[in-house]
Amino acid sequence: MARGLRVGVGFDVHRLEPGRRFVLGGVEIPHDRGPVGWSDGDVLVHAVMDAALAAAGLPDIGAHFPPGDPRYRDAPSLELLAEVRARVEARGYRVAQVCAVVVAETPRLRPHADRMRTTLAETLGIGVEDVAIQATTAEGLGEVGRGEAIQAFAVVLLEPS
Ligand code: MG
Repeated sequence: MARGLRVGVGFDVHRLEPGRRFVLGGVEIPHDRGPVGWSDGDVLVHAVMDAALAAAGLPDIGAHFPPGDPRYRDAPSLELLAEVRARVEARGYRVAQVCAVVVAETPRLRPHADRMRTTLAETLGIGVEDVAIQATTAEGLGEVGRGEAIQAFAVVLLEPS
């Protein structure tokens, strides 16, 4: 496996339905609906996890935390991210930087971005300035635009530890 810097990309999407907590980047945000999923459905954390695993040359999130496994029912995704960090570090790498984009029509995410950055940075053991979260909408287009789903993309850079 190549030494030096390594990069990975991750993507996730979840349906949004009433009666679910809206958790994003490990932060609970007041909203009239939330992501449906086996875990807490945190698309941002899931995209970051997949990007970190890809960068480390490890299989994707479903191989590590299979949906349907009772251990991960409604699991806080931040705990799974901490486990991904441990598996990346066991490979001789550490996370250097995270860049993510979240696509959601509602709620407004900008006011919560710094809390999400801080939460992710603490979980990964990096500086808050090393975590970027861009929030955008889908301009009313498709399922995301109708507020029926939320998407996240993430790029993670690893450096040898
Ligand atoms: Mg997911």
